[in-house]
Amino acid sequence: MQAYCVKCREKRDMTNARDEMTKNGKPIIKGSCTVCSTGLNIIGKTMAAMK
Ligand SMILES: [Zn+2]
Repeated sequence: MQAYCVKCREKRDMTNARDEMTKNGKPIIKGSCTVCSTGLNIIGKTMAAMK
């Protein structure tokens, strides 16, 4: 699974990806950049929808 990393300014593979909910009740995938460990978010998606 890939997400845009603001620190690398590139799309990076995400590690430790997990489904969570925002305060507004929207799905969000949270993980970490494999290169710099910055937190990555994919808002409005679930892991099941990404497969
Ligand atoms: Zn990064």
